[in-house]
Amino acid sequence: MGFFKKKKKSFEEEQMAKGLVKYGDEWITPAEKYRRERLGANVPVIREKETIVTKEIVKMRCKYCGTVFNIAENDKCPHCGAPP
Ligand SMILES: [Zn+2]
Repeated sequence: MGFFKKKKKSFEEEQMAKGLVKYGDEWITPAEKYRRERLGANVPVIREKETIVTKEIVKMRCKYCGTVFNIAENDKCPHCGAPP
């Protein structure tokens, strides 16, 4: 005889006895947990800014052959090669 088992308190039980709560891998106070949960919920979602690029289409009519062409894509008449 003379052997009695003393149940050792686990680390978790000790922390809980201190009034701490587990949050992830940490032991924190309930107030801290509440604060962190609120912070977590309030993390702003970074949205990618949508940029709509409106390409201006400038149309030209060739004074030689009358072909209408986009000056942004063609620096000269695509039909007869005349400069705008
Ligand atoms: Zn032309």
